[in-house]
Amino acid sequence: MLTILLRNSVVCIRQPNCSNVRGAVRQFRITIRQEAQLPNLSPYDVNLILRENEYIQTFPEDDSIVRSYESNQLSSNRPCEDSRTEATFLHKSGFICGVFDGHGGPACSQVISKRLLRYVAAGVIDRTTLKEVVAKEYNSQSFLKCHNDKADFVNEIKTIYEDSFRDYVQTISSQTVEKISIEITNAFMRLDDDLSKEALKHTNMRTMSVAMSGAVACVAHIDHLDLHVASTGDCGAVLGTQCPETGQWHAKKLNNEHNADNLKEVQRILEEHPKEEQDTAIRNERLLGQLAPLRALGDFRYKWSNEIMAKYVVPTFGEHSVPPHYYTPPYLTAQPEVQHHVLGPSDKFLVIASDGLWDFLTPSQVISLVGEHFNSKKVMEPMKIPSGDVTLLEVAKLLAERKAGRARKPLDQNSATHLIRNALGGTDYGIEHSKIAYYLTLPQDVVRLYRDDITITVIYFNTEYITRLNGDS
Ligand code: MG
Repeated sequence: MLTILLRNSVVCIRQPNCSNVRGAVRQFRITIRQEAQLPNLSPYDVNLILRENEYIQTFPEDDSIVRSYESNQLSSNRPCEDSRTEATFLHKSGFICGVFDGHGGPACSQVISKRLLRYVAAGVIDRTTLKEVVAKEYNSQSFLKCHNDKADFVNEIKTIYEDSFRDYVQTISSQTVEKISIEITNAFMRLDDDLSKEALKHTNMRTMSVAMSGAVACVAHIDHLDLHVASTGDCGAVLGTQCPETGQWHAKKLNNEHNADNLKEVQRILEEHPKEEQDTAIRNERLLGQLAPLRALGDFRYKWSNEIMAKYVVPTFGEHSVPPHYYTPPYLTAQPEVQHHVLGPSDKFLVIASDGLWDFLTPSQVISLVGEHFNSKKVMEPMKIPSGDVTLLEVAKLLAERKAGRARKPLDQNSATHLIRNALGGTDYGIEHSKIAYYLTLPQDVVRLYRDDITITVIYFNTEYITRLNGDS
């Protein structure tokens, strides 16, 4: 196993990927570091970098609500502070995925990426099934089949996390199952509480590095026609809907960002603290003048009491680790906002991404780009003549559309890669290679000023199944 973080590492790579592509990219990055001048990237070099972390998974079953998903990640920070997880359930139907954007280091993001969906999965299954699972030998992996899962926790903290998970399952197995939105919220809050307890009970650098760093999270749960999006912080989820008459694409946002641009959120925080703190609770558009997201998991130095800070944080991390004007904690919560949407045949895909993408593209631009990509992929499939009476003129029109679609064929098969390419290189006249090359060759000490980590998951819905379910309901 290859440890990817040294002293405070929480995960290790399960299957080191020694493919030629990764090796070439690594060699290329070494070359960049060694060159005093930034190298000119060829289109081949750009493709190697953009496609390094892409992943595609399809679900061919007729009764799968998700037809496929495509994801990718481009890091800016080293190591990358974003994480992503996608999974199907082992004891019920449906699909779940999440994008997690860490700050203050990658530890919290890596941990919640691997744990949060498992907490949700145990919470949302009916209690009879849960009790059957609990009655047998089980662990946190007994509820989900995770796809593209290459990392595992280091042994030192694995046992701690399994103990917490079993306590959680014991607690909920004696409770009745609530609405999905409540169960998802409970999972967020319980995991966050567990991160705090673990850091205070097992005071070592690994559990403490998770507690002192933080992460925002956006999780989508899809079962039958019910889509729930739970978001804490400033990742974003947008639904792509196609008008059946015009073919036009429409974007529907399914989350509110929790940052200083959200006046309701600012108001909420100011109301939770005394009047004397109106000028200090949020300063320079940041919580206590420091933290940009106004909700997050982890980040306990904005949550713990002054007593806990004095006993556990100050001796190890120093006085400066206590934020200025820290009078009436907690200032931060992990509580997600959950939105519910009932899927219809016009809903074609959902895009979840960290703010690194939304810094470059608006929700409408993202939906248009994925929509065009979706259309062009359709014309690459074998042509199907519509059933019933079809005139030669109609066939000619179909052929003309396919010809036009082939001319617009995108460079990337993966729509998440297509989005990253357009985010970095898009202009009014198409993709500009030199613009992408510029963003990809910025030196490590300044790159974060120009672009953040970008993580994207695009989930495609099974329209035929949705149409059938709509007909049944
Ligand atoms: Mg970010």
